[in-house]
Amino acid sequence: METELVYAEEEMANEAISKAVKYLEAGDVVALPTETVYGLGANALDADAVVKIFEAKGRPSYDPLIIHLSSREEIHNYCDLSPELDEIVQKLIQEFWPGPLTMVLPKKDIIPDIVTSGLPTVAVRMSGHPIMQEICKAFGKPIAAPSANRFGRISPTSAGAVLKELDGKIPLIVDGGACNAGLESTIIRVEVGKNNPEFHLLRAGPVVKEDLQKIGKVIRPKKLTERARKMLMEKAPESSSDTEAMQAPGMLESHYAPETPLYFFDKPEDFKPEEGKIYGLLSYRGQDKDGYMDLHEWDVIEELSPGKGKLAEASVRLFHMLRLLDESGVDAIVAEPAAETGLGVAINDRLRRASQRS
Ligand code: AMP
Ligand code: MG
Repeated sequence: METELVYAEEEMANEAISKAVKYLEAGDVVALPTETVYGLGANALDADAVVKIFEAKGRPSYDPLIIHLSSREEIHNYCDLSPELDEIVQKLIQEFWPGPLTMVLPKKDIIPDIVTSGLPTVAVRMSGHPIMQEICKAFGKPIAAPSANRFGRISPTSAGAVLKELDGKIPLIVDGGACNAGLESTIIRVEVGKNNPEFHLLRAGPVVKEDLQKIGKVIRPKKLTERARKMLMEKAPESSSDTEAMQAPGMLESHYAPETPLYFFDKPEDFKPEEGKIYGLLSYRGQDKDGYMDLHEWDVIEELSPGKGKLAEASVRLFHMLRLLDESGVDAIVAEPAAETGLGVAINDRLRRASQRS
């Protein structure tokens, strides 16, 4: 299959949007820009179209998808919300939509099981990217869209990165420029709670804990049991207790991984270079007295925040720099942790997962 790349910038936007909609209506998959990372979209109400997402990505069917809505109001068409839950959801929507917050909520029957991997809940969000919004509006149905990369690999934050991942596997890539958040959306499971709304943090992302705490209590998920972890890597879970541990399916420990081994240490001193190996550094801050720069004669250095420790800058650059290092020919990559606050939590989460080998 030939993969076509269309620009959606300025006067070319309308043509790109109608082309994307045509493919979606025909039950095909299309790579689409969002503010977080590029998504691989298909009609969320058409199980046959959704299958193509799993095929193109090589994604296991037990890993459910996020659906993208064209308006805030549409949520009631796809989610089954009690009045209490709706009140909380509306507060979150007012504060964060359109934007990089995904909510996991009870689903309506119209959403096919393949989208949710058979779960009774569905993950929904409304993208803040103008081109994605236009496409969602023009298409008129929800678009299921996971990141447009091969399963387990680095998420694409540019159309060029999508092409590297999926060339020949999908018919169309809509180029809407570089993603300006650069990290996948924050995912929470929303619950009414006893006294306060409860947000179970399934994936850290651009909407940070401190933002969510203005509306409710943020609960971190329990760490996966070894058994649940193995099942996630191999097959769908069988027992309900494992399903509980898997409330964040897709939260595989090995994810976002470059082909080159990546090391993510607790402290710089833990790095023990092997003789004869070539190491690249993914530096967070650049020069810093306790940092990683002076630790070794690095062959390649990429800086996440040349502005010296700005987390938003580091988020936007993370996956791109990771790709550059992966393609640089080093034997291994060492990643320096970001400050573990705000967006740094999501950055470190991605790096930690990138360091896990399956
Ligand atoms: P992505 O791989 O970026 O498309 O993100 C999709 C992720 O959303 C999945 O890997 C899950 O972790 C999460 N997700 C989607 N649907 C659900 C759901 N119904 N319940 C819990 N997590 C979900
Ligand atoms: Mg992904």
